[in-house]
Amino acid sequence: MEAPERIEPDLEVVRELKELTGGAFKRCGQCATCTVVCDLSAPDGDYPRGKMLWAQWGLKDRLLRSLEPWLCYYCGKCSQRCPRKAEPGETLMGLRRWLTSRYDVTGLSRLLYRSWKAELLVLLLVALATALGLLGWGYAHGNIHHYDGALAFLPSAVIHRFDWAMAGVLTLFLGINAARMWWFTMAKGEPHPAPLASYLRQLPLLPLHFLTQKRFSACDSRRPWAIHLVLMLSYVSLFTLIMFFLHDMQSGPAINWKVHAIGYAASAGLLGTVIFAIRGRLAKVEEQYKHSHESDWLFLALLALVTLTGVTQHALHRTGHPLEANVAYVVHLSLVVPMLLLEVPFGKWSHMIYRPLAVYLDSVRRDALAHEKVTETSPEAAAGTAAGRAAHESHA
Ligand code: SF4
Ligand code: SF4
Repeated sequence: MEAPERIEPDLEVVRELKELTGGAFKRCGQCATCTVVCDLSAPDGDYPRGKMLWAQWGLKDRLLRSLEPWLCYYCGKCSQRCPRKAEPGETLMGLRRWLTSRYDVTGLSRLLYRSWKAELLVLLLVALATALGLLGWGYAHGNIHHYDGALAFLPSAVIHRFDWAMAGVLTLFLGINAARMWWFTMAKGEPHPAPLASYLRQLPLLPLHFLTQKRFSACDSRRPWAIHLVLMLSYVSLFTLIMFFLHDMQSGPAINWKVHAIGYAASAGLLGTVIFAIRGRLAKVEEQYKHSHESDWLFLALLALVTLTGVTQHALHRTGHPLEANVAYVVHLSLVVPMLLLEVPFGKWSHMIYRPLAVYLDSVRRDALAHEKVTETSPEAAAGTAAGRAAHESHA
């Protein structure tokens, strides 16, 4: 008879996870209260209890293979009820940080999550380089006293091309990271990958969950879901306006209600959710706001500054102050670029891709399980297939 596999704790991973989660997971006694109270846990599953054990042992490969940290919406119910104060909700949040840093092939995400000083320095350097580039272009081709027209300091046509170039870079990085997430969770070491038909059957879930994050409305407390929904819809609306209607947004100073009404609603949505999150993190009353990693504060500060400078630039332009509007626009774009370049592929904004992708891939596994004839009989063997992983993650 073959000797059972001996599992050794990976102390380096445990140390890293302590940094990213706060380390309370070491107090977990596996009582399973969190699994019982979680509205998203399968009736016979081990979620989130199982991930606490994997974190305690630093089981890198199992964690990398798991989609479950992305299937939590941090309602905080499990942390509230945990008798050992092991903070399962915050542990899953920290695991999402760790996974984000592992999906990223450049190593930048890991650096940014592990040192807020490095993150701040990189943000400032990118902001400075952007400001110098914009000022250099503006002074060489336009006049700072003109906001639009032939002498515009930063004409919308030029900014539009710049936006599309940046979107291309972001898509490239995000695409690579998403492909690595798929590789770790669905393909690496997989003898029986899920069939293409399962991917195709479940495909509509991807845009659905991207736009609505519907799965998380099943939580008892719908507030975190509703706030994320407002944030997401505001962000997507502004992104669409900037990518496709920038000229209409920037021309003026008369207000073009066709585009500006949506822009105002989206800006109000962004500002409202940011203020709500900052208040929550300062008050530390609600479970999901009790623990703040430095990256949470930097993200919120950037988002607040980007929104406020965007509103200021808009107001100055509409009230006939082209010089001041141009200065505010340079500051605004100098914050937008580092926020998008760093936070979208390497930081917190990447969650908007990983979450719906995880829900989709989880459904692909379940679809494969439902359609595949699993011939293996042992749970260990079944867990080696794509379908088996779904079963294994739910029923271990
Ligand atoms: S995290 Fe808390 S509630 Fe969950 S199994 Fe561990 S001790 Fe129990
Ligand atoms: S935070 Fe909420 S959704 Fe996440 S594991 Fe805990 S109870 Fe479940």
